[in-house]
Amino acid sequence: MEMTEGLVIIGAGQAGLQLAAELRARGYEEPIVLVGEEAVPPYQRPPLSKSFLTGETQAAALFLRPPGFYDSHRISLLTEERAVGIDRAARRIALASGRTLSFRKLALTTGAAARIPSLPGIDYPGVAALRTLADAESLRAHLQKASEVVVIGGGFIGLETAAAARKLGKSVTVLEALPRLLARVVAPIVSDFYAEAHRRRGIVVRTNVTVAALEGDASGIRAVRLADGTRLAADLVILGTGALPRTELAEALGLACQGGILVDRFARTSSSEIVAAGDCTVHRDLDDRMARLESVQNAIDQAKVAAATLLGWFEPFSAVPWFWSDQGDLKLQIAGYNGGYDRLVLRGDPATESFSVLYFRQEQLLAVDSINRPADYAAARRLLAARISVPPAEAADPSVPLKKWLANPG
Ligand SMILES: Cc1cc2nc3c(=O)[nH]c(=O)nc-3n(C[C@H](O)[C@H](O)[C@H](O)COP(=O)(O)OP(=O)(O)OC[C@H]3O[C@@H](n4cnc5c(N)ncnc54)[C@H](O)[C@@H]3O)c2cc1C
Repeated sequence: MEMTEGLVIIGAGQAGLQLAAELRARGYEEPIVLVGEEAVPPYQRPPLSKSFLTGETQAAALFLRPPGFYDSHRISLLTEERAVGIDRAARRIALASGRTLSFRKLALTTGAAARIPSLPGIDYPGVAALRTLADAESLRAHLQKASEVVVIGGGFIGLETAAAARKLGKSVTVLEALPRLLARVVAPIVSDFYAEAHRRRGIVVRTNVTVAALEGDASGIRAVRLADGTRLAADLVILGTGALPRTELAEALGLACQGGILVDRFARTSSSEIVAAGDCTVHRDLDDRMARLESVQNAIDQAKVAAATLLGWFEPFSAVPWFWSDQGDLKLQIAGYNGGYDRLVLRGDPATESFSVLYFRQEQLLAVDSINRPADYAAARRLLAARISVPPAEAADPSVPLKKWLANPG
């Protein structure tokens, strides 16, 4: 058995790396082992559905830290090692390779896995999910050869990959089961804008459609069959059907899980000495709703909170959520969380492909979606962090900069 007096972090992704780096930056001296099942050191996932697919970004540019960082910060990075069991009483972790690790403190940053719908034909070659660099490399190779691409799912990853495929000159169809795109995250006006903008770029966008089966054989995918009997020819099917939190280890440990590992605002699980951060977690938001955020920002900010907790400093989670999605030349930036909004304010004209939507509840600014309007987004983040609202009627005038309402507009 390999002895580790310090911390073992399971999951070497955005949150796991951030946690390790933050602990070292704050003077944590004990050993840190970062265990990752992927073959490569921690990297950025966002480009995988964007510039990596189009070939504009190469794998080497994705790594979050240079190779020397791990040794120089005394972080033992184990790649291609999957944790398969944890004995809490014995403080021992079993790895799939047969190795074991012992720990004094434990953190779970296991992320999420692509949700694979149970459809006939889902295993045919040319049906691709996208979560890891290995997935993206395989998808990129398929995409180069493909001519008819069907994307199942009109969420962020579905639309980003659709835009990338279109940019490469492919014929692209997006199929969404719900009545509108991005339905869970943005207001209908933003959904409608995206449907139209992608159509203008030559993508076929279909909503309210149910996929019944994938047709093909062991040599590859040929078509997507819809519930109404329509058959769409396809030589590549991309699954943009969401992600599921990796809770298997937490559940085996008996930690409370509710569609993610439940954490409090100090990133503590139901067993207060085990912390968790990133896509694998859920937390209660300020309105007492369960929130599971899949974003780089959440992974980073929760990992920082987890680091403070492990150091005994207890700094509660208070970050304003932010997110971005680049779909070809359409740059969406989101600040805040729009849950429970009762009023929308539009700034600018969607027809110009540069506008923002402000979400309010009882005259209080909750969130902003900015499409190709980065100044609105930047101001909104600062307004939300300072808990400053803006008068909705005045904010509708796009010629008035939102930073006008900041105490110190800079
Ligand atoms: C294609 C794509 C595009 C995205 N685009 C954006 C974007 O534009 N903007 C944005 O904000 N966010 C985006 N995201 C989301 C963002 O990448 C995630 O929110 C972020 O990576 C979460 O970090 P994490 O550390 O929680 O999980 P991950 O980065 O998934 O890391 C978890 C790691 O843990 C490993 N692991 C799990 N279980 C075990 C185990 N038992 N043993 C060992 N290792 C284990 C996994 O293999 C994985 O490497 C995107 C995600 C994807 C997939």
